[in-house]
Amino acid sequence: MLGVHIAISLPAVGTLVNQAGYRRLQERYPRALVAQAIREQIAAERATEPAPDEQRLLAVGDRLEEWLRPRLRRVINVSGVMLHTNLGRAPISPAAAAAAADIAAGYSNVELELATGRRGRRADVVEALLQRLTGAEAALVVNNNAAAILLALSALCRGREVIVSRGQQVEIGGGFRMPEVMRLSGCRMVEVGTTNRTRSADYEAAISDRTAALLVAHPSNFRQTGFTESASLAELGALAKSSGLLLLNDLGSGALTPIFDEPTVAEAARHSAVLTFSGDKLLGGPQAGIAVGRSEPISILGRHALARAVRVDKMTLAALEVTLQERLLGRPSPLQLMLAQSPAEVRRRAGSFQAQLATRGVSTELREAETFIGGGSTPGRGLPTWLVVLSGPATRQQRALRTAAVPVIARIEADRCCLDLRTVLPGEEPALLDSVLAALGKAGRLA
Ligand SMILES: *Cc1c(COP(=O)(O)O)cnc(C)c1O
Repeated sequence: MLGVHIAISLPAVGTLVNQAGYRRLQERYPRALVAQAIREQIAAERATEPAPDEQRLLAVGDRLEEWLRPRLRRVINVSGVMLHTNLGRAPISPAAAAAAADIAAGYSNVELELATGRRGRRADVVEALLQRLTGAEAALVVNNNAAAILLALSALCRGREVIVSRGQQVEIGGGFRMPEVMRLSGCRMVEVGTTNRTRSADYEAAISDRTAALLVAHPSNFRQTGFTESASLAELGALAKSSGLLLLNDLGSGALTPIFDEPTVAEAARHSAVLTFSGDKLLGGPQAGIAVGRSEPISILGRHALARAVRVDKMTLAALEVTLQERLLGRPSPLQLMLAQSPAEVRRRAGSFQAQLATRGVSTELREAETFIGGGSTPGRGLPTWLVVLSGPATRQQRALRTAAVPVIARIEADRCCLDLRTVLPGEEPALLDSVLAALGKAGRLA
């Protein structure tokens, strides 16, 4: 009975869209989009009950606003993890971001040699910089490191065997597992050694006439301690050379300068035929997969059909070029600036933030803890830091911070919501203060 009644009382989309209120919406939204919102609103009313005219207009406006609400947002990272894949990993430098914006908004010579007018290779833009920074003969840039590994295995090892240690059967996260990548690229994986110990002799014993390469993968997100042994890159490089094989090296993070006991790209490149790493981890650049190594295997990668499918975008190349220039000039990346803050500096920063909260009646504690680099680099290693520790219901505060007007990503430690200010970028502190006050139900700075 109700259904029949409602069907009769609902107005037509074509009638509503011409009414004054809906015409006003068309000053901001295309007519067709307004009509679509009305249609969905009417359908919703049909399923429930008809709304009064005023309320319907408001609901249609809300729908349109919701459709256009920005989903990808800047967030403030106080999680204590510097390279967080869910938070977009490394913030790039303002100059690198500006270069990407500039190139994106116009035409560019991304595949054109200006001097000759000939078609160029995309990687040419950054190859010389990568050669200089890593000492490698050649370089190629693709969409990300996962793509670089897939491309290297597909182009160089398809249909043949690749020897890898059982201790390096890594899963990087997001389901990216080395054995599956091997299958996908058409290689046969030959596992050697044990989980905790693999020697050079183990690789040597597994070499046959079907072998194409030895593969080394950085155990990015875990750390082996205790009774462990692995073959050094120098040993494997020598073995590959004397056996006429390629040494492929998935370095993961790609530090150009020493950090903890990680091998630098230049050190690793000396021993590898092809070495791959991410642009957006310790390099501090945009998402990219960088392959450096000897000229011949790198050029085979560049000519493979898959290279076209995983090619790098012009905005990325623009940001990467500036990032690499900055590394060559020794200018610190935003990430390096965060890393360089001493515990005393972080403590001062935390103390000043604590004082600002205190003037708004919010009392907090400071606690000594660790910042993790994350992103599959330097597993298990942290930098001493100081946290601003909120009191109260941690999970609720964490959610309130996440859903604040400027979202803030905090971490929970020992049942408390904690803020690690080391990863707060220059200029973000006022917004952080507003979000924290709002999340705690206090008025903002300007109120
Ligand atoms: C991070 C990482 C990858 C994946 O790199 P992406 O750039 O995210 O594709 C692969 N291998 C290792 C060892 C890593 O640390």
